[in-house]
Amino acid sequence: MYNKMSLRDVKLQGERVFCRVDFNVPLDDRGGIGDDSRITAALKTIRYITDQGGRLILASHLGRPKGKPDPKYSLAPVAAHLSRLLGREVRMAPDCVGPEVSKMVNTLRDGDVLLLENVRFHAEEEKNDHIFSRQLANLADIYVNDAFGAAHRAHASTEGVAHMLNPAVAGFLMEDEIRYLGKALTEPARPFVSILGGAKAKDKIPVIHNLLKKVDALLIGGGMAYTFLKAKGIEVGRSLVQEDQIDLARSLMKEAETLRVKFLLPEDHVVAPALESVTEFRVCGNGDFPPSWMGLDIGPATARRYSAVVGDAATVVWNGPMGVFENDTFAKGTLAIANALAESKAVTIIGGGDSMAAVKQAGLEGRMTHISTGGGASLEFLEGKKLPGIQALNDKF
Ligand code: ADP
Ligand code: MG
Repeated sequence: MYNKMSLRDVKLQGERVFCRVDFNVPLDDRGGIGDDSRITAALKTIRYITDQGGRLILASHLGRPKGKPDPKYSLAPVAAHLSRLLGREVRMAPDCVGPEVSKMVNTLRDGDVLLLENVRFHAEEEKNDHIFSRQLANLADIYVNDAFGAAHRAHASTEGVAHMLNPAVAGFLMEDEIRYLGKALTEPARPFVSILGGAKAKDKIPVIHNLLKKVDALLIGGGMAYTFLKAKGIEVGRSLVQEDQIDLARSLMKEAETLRVKFLLPEDHVVAPALESVTEFRVCGNGDFPPSWMGLDIGPATARRYSAVVGDAATVVWNGPMGVFENDTFAKGTLAIANALAESKAVTIIGGGDSMAAVKQAGLEGRMTHISTGGGASLEFLEGKKLPGIQALNDKF
């Protein structure tokens, strides 16, 4: 899954290039674009294709329009915005398939750009319908996937069409994702350390399970830590605990021992009577957890210990915040880890929407080696699953 052909491996001049991008941007209430980082992230691929003389057909989904046209989810504002960013015309198609669209594609000259309307205006997209995939494929000669964030979904525009066009290759964003995440899983520079946090143990246990076989150390924080602490018989008050995951948590810790993987849990916590608390909070150790309070961040001793482990690492994969970082009172642990990664000489990889938000909030995004653009997709990648949108691309050599 990790050795796929990329844009650099194909001739684009004069070819009709179907490029699946992730333009699923947040829209504001006036139909404007809230945050355009997903569009700017695709610019490198877009510019390369047009510079090489490809006739570019861009496709994306936007929101959840329930399988039929809904003007609220039109990509037209994205076409206008992209046009400004590129300094060239971006034509907007009225649909993503049909005679009108074919006609527009036929008039494309080398270097022109056409944006198809939301692929989710057709229910066939998410059903990965064969005929719909064929209709998309008929528009083009070459398939490029640059939408890593949608690669864990086997939809028509992410998977079906990839099997019908040859070559089917990775765009530059996708290539980076495969390179960094793939290398960490297959041939990481060691010591390889992974830090896992976030709310729920259940979401991250498959990741722990897969990473245990690969890492030298696992550092656990966030809400999920309390299921593990409870499994060890440590008092955790009213912290977030998933009772039905306790046995699994215990067996994972046993497995870590067998594999001689360092498995670290928080030794101290920032605790408060409630999640909303801003004035009443304190730091406690594992021995003196107030039974009616909850743990909302790792404590300073844990942050120092985890930072030291990060400092000695050669590869770090981080997924999930160390506490309720949305509230400044409980953001210190997460910020300490973000800083430790920024200071570290290791290859640092961030996966997960909230961890990415935390890194951005700290203004440290430029100091990480790689920040994954796909929350769900990067999690499934780290779980060791094969992502259909990547699987469907041509292998290198
Ligand atoms: P990511 O998007 O990076 O994968 P998750 O979605 O798994 O991360 O988890 C992020 C959420 O976890 C945040 O909303 C954060 O408030 C919450 N969280 C972190 N620590 C705790 C905790 N101790 N108790 C409750 N919620 C927590
Ligand atoms: Mg999240």
